[in-house]
Amino acid sequence: MCDEPVEARHGHVVDRHNQQLVCTCRGCYLLFTGEWNGGRFRAVPDRYLTDSRHPITAALWEQLQVPVGMAFFVKGMAGREVAAFYPSPAGATECLLDLAAWNRLAAGLPLLAAAEPEIEAILVRRTEDGVQCCLVPVDACYELVGAMRLDWHGFDGGAEAKAHIEEFFTRVAERSRELV
Ligand SMILES: [Zn+2]
Ligand SMILES: [Zn+2]
Repeated sequence: MCDEPVEARHGHVVDRHNQQLVCTCRGCYLLFTGEWNGGRFRAVPDRYLTDSRHPITAALWEQLQVPVGMAFFVKGMAGREVAAFYPSPAGATECLLDLAAWNRLAAGLPLLAAAEPEIEAILVRRTEDGVQCCLVPVDACYELVGAMRLDWHGFDGGAEAKAHIEEFFTRVAERSRELV
């Protein structure tokens, strides 16, 4: 956004016109934090939340009929009320979402309502142990996508990619605070 070099660890803003994440220096990032004024840019916050009192059960997840085990949901993106994407080695791929099913789910899950449009995502992963669901900054989802593109091999990604995905979700779980 300016000529200031961007450090390795840096914040992002969403460019709402181009539906794009922009890397920013600290100064530019801070320009767009705080109450959103309806303008073109919005800083991506860095909060991670979970809500262990209202878990997504496997049965609830089934109702969404998302054909993959891992997906993220962003409100007000891609011209939709809620857009669903799954991370893949080809990038973030949009999948069809039954909005009525989403709304039924959201009605019982305060975490879903807490996500800020465009800048936060609901990240869900179905594992053998259950369904992990967190509210994350939207750039974290693209970090996951980026990691998959880097080290994906073959059909299922291979051991290295799986390990990276596992690490990513462990980090997300560690950073998450309880929704109050
Ligand atoms: Zn960046
Ligand atoms: Zn700057």
